[in-house]
Amino acid sequence: MLDKFEREINYLRVSITDRCNLHCTYCRPKEGISLQGHDDILRYEEIIRIVSVAVNMGLIKVRVTGGEPLVRKGFIDFISSLKNIKGLRDISLTTNGILLEEFAQSIFDAGIHRINISLDSLNEEKYAKVTGGGDLQAVLRGIKKAEEIGFAPIKINTVVINGFSDDEILDFAKIAFEKPFQVRFIELMPFGQAHTFHTENYLPIDQVMKKIMSRYKLEKVEEKKTKADGPAKIFKIRGGAGEVGFISPLSGHFCATCNRLRLTADGKLRSCLLRDDEFDLKKMLRQNCSDADLKKFIREVISLKPKGHDIICGPEHLRKCQRDMSEIGG
Ligand code: SAM
Repeated sequence: MLDKFEREINYLRVSITDRCNLHCTYCRPKEGISLQGHDDILRYEEIIRIVSVAVNMGLIKVRVTGGEPLVRKGFIDFISSLKNIKGLRDISLTTNGILLEEFAQSIFDAGIHRINISLDSLNEEKYAKVTGGGDLQAVLRGIKKAEEIGFAPIKINTVVINGFSDDEILDFAKIAFEKPFQVRFIELMPFGQAHTFHTENYLPIDQVMKKIMSRYKLEKVEEKKTKADGPAKIFKIRGGAGEVGFISPLSGHFCATCNRLRLTADGKLRSCLLRDDEFDLKKMLRQNCSDADLKKFIREVISLKPKGHDIICGPEHLRKCQRDMSEIGG
């Protein structure tokens, strides 16, 4: 599936629910969230059909996300069905880790061995504050369980919030020094109803890197080896067990190599995370379209994939994306 800028589109991120057991201030704050009705959310069979058709067109990689994927009933059977799709080479999962201790073994047994866990603070009070009441210890137990079971790689994603978690950058880097994890630092993006004042809370990734380099020696990992890491720039910490990664959707965007489509929980197909255009796949499905119609539709969406997003850094950058990240899946 080549788009008009010669990018090979072979990766789909699927948000399976807009529900989440956390209320992160920059993503899905408690106030102002409106949830989709049960019928508005794609059924698992519908997602499986879309993925099967897309695999037929060249899709090889799916990441399951949300909301929080582990809160949706039937999730384990769903990933087993995904696993049965011939030609789908890589299935991974993004979770906040709150329910991971309970589900890690079933997830592993169902065939997902690559996992990303979102974690924005290592301080219990701050974690509860940024997540609207989340329990840090539950996440840490989940990570430990995932490590014991043998998930690999385990990636910890942390959104750096200036004035809130910038003082924890070295603590996160220390995790990558001590454990064979990949700790990835992500720039805050301006989304939906986020309560954060983006211009104040945004920290460009080069400042994060500089801070880490004040304590650790970083050794660039060859890009060939990090192909599966997507847009993250990956470094080994000299003498350490793991790696750190830097993801800069705003300060150094990676649109030229973007290979992704996104399917929202309510069945909209998006070709760019940071643009608001989306196309109603659910409506088509529910009008009993054929697989050929689905393919044509997906091809059209790919043909409209923009060259890049238009969110720029600086005080004037406050065009916000309309949708909440929890509906798109990150
Ligand atoms: N609940 C799962 C989780 O926490 O990983 C999956 C969904 S969550 C929307 C996926 C990722 O998007 C999380 O790592 C979250 O931190 C990130 N995210 C949400 N809003 C964001 C924003 N405004 N800027 C940067 N990352 C954001």
